[in-house]
Amino acid sequence: MDALHKLQLLAPLTCYEPTEEVNPLGQTAAPPPVPRDLKNCIAQATLPGGQKIPLLKTLVSSYCEMDCRYCAIRAGRDFHREIFIPDELAQLTVQLYTQGLIKGAFLSSALMGGGPRTQDRILATAEILRRKYRFPGYLHVKIMPNAERDQIAEAMRWADRVSLNLEAPNAQRLSELAPRKEFSGALFQRLRWVDELRRAATGPGRVPSATTQFVVGAVGEPDVELLTTAAYLYRELRLARTYFSSFSPVPDTPLSDHAPSDPVREHRLYQASFLLRDYGFDVEELPFVQDGNLPRDADPKLAWARLHLTYAPVEVNTADRTTLLRIPGIGPKNADRIVSARRLGTLADLRDLRHLGIATQRAMPFILLNGKQPPRQLGLWAT
Ligand code: SF4
Repeated sequence: MDALHKLQLLAPLTCYEPTEEVNPLGQTAAPPPVPRDLKNCIAQATLPGGQKIPLLKTLVSSYCEMDCRYCAIRAGRDFHREIFIPDELAQLTVQLYTQGLIKGAFLSSALMGGGPRTQDRILATAEILRRKYRFPGYLHVKIMPNAERDQIAEAMRWADRVSLNLEAPNAQRLSELAPRKEFSGALFQRLRWVDELRRAATGPGRVPSATTQFVVGAVGEPDVELLTTAAYLYRELRLARTYFSSFSPVPDTPLSDHAPSDPVREHRLYQASFLLRDYGFDVEELPFVQDGNLPRDADPKLAWARLHLTYAPVEVNTADRTTLLRIPGIGPKNADRIVSARRLGTLADLRDLRHLGIATQRAMPFILLNGKQPPRQLGLWAT
């Protein structure tokens, strides 16, 4: 089978793996035109700096010895499996790059022969890309469960980003989702090594960012479990991103009769995780309801503000940056703009805030401007 045909079989299987920044509700921007035969192989990805690139997303192999209960690729499930020879995949990647069809690649794999052997195949592809073909594009390399520390160090030498999927927020949930995977050693310890290697990196050159992914809604885990682990990962292991993938049942798997997870839940989890990562919130402050989930009908920041700021609005002219970030409609960049603008004079009305790019409609109920609550304006309250 030729390499392109293999790619057409292997690449679509990465649809279960969010990689770079994506819209949480799946409303990604229209991808650039790609040939019909590569339609399911190239995704539009937004890199951490905001640059949008066409990204080749593929598995190196779809042969799997594991039996993760939710997974379409699990051992014993009947479909056509394929495997790339490393040089074959590297050549094809460079060819697509040279043709201007991609600007980067994401390399993952199903597990066969254990984590280290699987990791070797991914690393061989990455090394050939970087060394033999001098591939200058963006490269995201997956870390396998049980990968060795030296292998992780090597992945970080070639990659702009590495990731390892925890899949579940703790050992108990993982045992229900993927009974043959071990949470603490095989997975979590590898993320610790990534952080240690990142901290040890000195001098010029790339230091790859790190991400993980959780499957949401397959084994009854509440939001508080997912977000507690996400908070730890952001705070202690400095992950760039925790991805949340709504569970969707796959025929011929043990969870095929399980209901799919609500995409709104995934959206709220992303919003809450950004509060943990970028807005200084602690997980205990998030507005969980009794079952440990976030309310679905409101943005978690808005829900928090309704509880805490309705009767204690924030004076925009004097609040520190951390407090400004608690106001709905004010993000990190807005808060910085407010702090800069205040040096030039008092922010006296909503027009001043609008000039700074602030969503005044959302902020208005929770702020004071020069000691006064902004007057309600019909247009602002209309939607
Ligand atoms: S290791 Fe588990 S999640 Fe990964 S491909 Fe195999 S069955 Fe799927």
